[in-house]
Amino acid sequence: MEACMARIGLVAHDDKKDDLCAWAERHRHKLVQHELWGTGTTGSRVMAATGLTVQLLKSGPLGGDQQLGAMICEGRLDVLIFFIDPLSAQPHDVDVKALTRLATLYDVPLANNRSTADAVLAAV
Ligand code: PGA
Repeated sequence: MEACMARIGLVAHDDKKDDLCAWAERHRHKLVQHELWGTGTTGSRVMAATGLTVQLLKSGPLGGDQQLGAMICEGRLDVLIFFIDPLSAQPHDVDVKALTRLATLYDVPLANNRSTADAVLAAV
């Protein structure tokens, strides 16, 4: 990955939104150099927590995950930070699977937890 502006997607399930906001605050100095995209609720929470600008998509369960998937298959997203809650069932599980499948298929760096997100962000 080149050291230039990356297009980064931000998503967190409800019980992981606090974690993602804390992560984004910690990495604010780095994230401000990039173009941020987020599902509706996650993106709004990150903006409120950090003051960063996040381009807002639909809420995940209302199609936001699929919008990020479309961005991936159209080559418009470079990194996906997706804090998944492994302890709760998600009503839009099919969308979650589709998004992670497309990130895998298109070889987009995908971080599902804080440690991996640290490593991925260090590489962009
Ligand atoms: P949200 O969507 O940010 O709109 O809550 C996240 C998700 O896909 O669960």
